[in-house]
Amino acid sequence: MPVLPLRFVPDPVLRQKARRVPGVDTRLEKLVADMIETMVAAPGVGLAAPQVGVSWRVAVIGMPDEESMVLINPAVVRRTGERLVEEGCLSLPSYRGEIKRSVSVTVKARNLQGKEFRIKARGLLAQALEHEIDHLNGVLYVDHLESPDALYRIQPEEEHGL
Ligand code: ZN
Repeated sequence: MPVLPLRFVPDPVLRQKARRVPGVDTRLEKLVADMIETMVAAPGVGLAAPQVGVSWRVAVIGMPDEESMVLINPAVVRRTGERLVEEGCLSLPSYRGEIKRSVSVTVKARNLQGKEFRIKARGLLAQALEHEIDHLNGVLYVDHLESPDALYRIQPEEEHGL
């Protein structure tokens, strides 16, 4: 399971709308395993397939002390509320920005067994879900900035991107 090279802004793959995955096969299983390893190595709390150059609707999320979550063809089915968060992205290193995200989201997706599931999340997990699903639509968190002043530089050791 190799760590895959990350794609960075302005790589055009980050701006494409990713394709739906038709089904689970060994190639997809291998991609997911490599994405999890890449996310852990980064380190990050989430990673979407376009960030490793694959324009498929696949994302992984690894919350601290929890088993990694695999999301195939995920979609947000419900959002509630609005809150201001600080956000970063592995594809845009050394920056963070303040943007608005939902207070809670409900997401449906398929897992690696091809089974559909729903998850209702709040806090960092909700933020990570919105961030990764944005990636699958070619959207980056900087698109949500209300002003250029809301983006600032950070030190590399503060990194824990999405
Ligand atoms: Zn990101």
